[in-house]
Amino acid sequence: TAQLIDGKKVSEKCLVTVRECVDARVARGLRAPGLAVVLVGDNPASAVYVRNKKAACEKVGFQSFSYHLPSQTSEYELLNLINELNNNDEIDGILVQLPLPQHIDGQKILEKINPNKDVDGFHPYNVGRLLVRMPLMRPCTPKGVMTLLKEYDIDVKRKKVTIVGASNIVGRPMMLEMLLAGATPTICHRFTENLADEVGQADIVVAAVGNPNLIKGEWIKQGAVVVDVGINRLEDGTLCGDVDFAIAKERAAWITPVPGGVGPMTIASLLENTLQAAELSDKK
Ligand code: NAD
Repeated sequence: TAQLIDGKKVSEKCLVTVRECVDARVARGLRAPGLAVVLVGDNPASAVYVRNKKAACEKVGFQSFSYHLPSQTSEYELLNLINELNNNDEIDGILVQLPLPQHIDGQKILEKINPNKDVDGFHPYNVGRLLVRMPLMRPCTPKGVMTLLKEYDIDVKRKKVTIVGASNIVGRPMMLEMLLAGATPTICHRFTENLADEVGQADIVVAAVGNPNLIKGEWIKQGAVVVDVGINRLEDGTLCGDVDFAIAKERAAWITPVPGGVGPMTIASLLENTLQAAELSDKK
């Protein structure tokens, strides 16, 4: 049976480290890092994410600034707010909670954020930096996966890694992180044929699709590492990942649970990025 990779435990450790750095900053007379969280509209899931992020900010001693705008906010108004936040010296990180309402072009908003304050790491500038091996703000979820593997001494160098899912926020940057770390990544998506074969060859599988039990436990190679990024809510209200956990855990050496695996690491990465952004702004 696989050993569990405990993301909750590792994320708490990351939070303690961030907290210590914040306290040390404040003791040296520097500002606590400031994170602006922008929420547009009333998506209930988004409200939960935003609440969790704000609570995490408080835990580590950040200043958090909240902007909850009505769903009918125009793109122009939102761009203006981003502009203000870009110019506000107390704010080191700007997080715009996705998804945005239909009438707003999300990509345009993300590109308006000053890349030095782009703590989600979604700006094409930051994705490009990762691509050319000069990461600055690293996308939070893939960064969290790398931190998690490192904490468990799971070396990715020379390993075959299959990533299932090719979104801008998870799959693609995950591929770039793995490449940077010396792995040989394969990335699969909705047009991939023979997903079972691609998964079966992997020493490390990262699933990020959003389709419960898409990845069959029988596909997992004996002794592989399984990282499940998927978060799916079933009809009975319980959460599950993209991997058939019950069978996969009998074959894998290591596996992340859902919840309590990658999820908490995403917030930890966000806090680390915000601290890093504050340190960058000190140097200016
Ligand atoms: P997305 O919908 O943007 O992308 C899904 C990807 O999966 C696409 O590239 C698509 O081609 C691929 N795909 C769809 N069906 C497939 C199939 N049958 N076979 C192979 N590939 C297929 O999703 P996303 O934003 O990347 O999120 C993916 C999952 O990760 C979701 O469950 C989301 O809730 C979760 N998520 C978790 C965290 C976290 O902190 N743990 C963060 C972000 C997203």
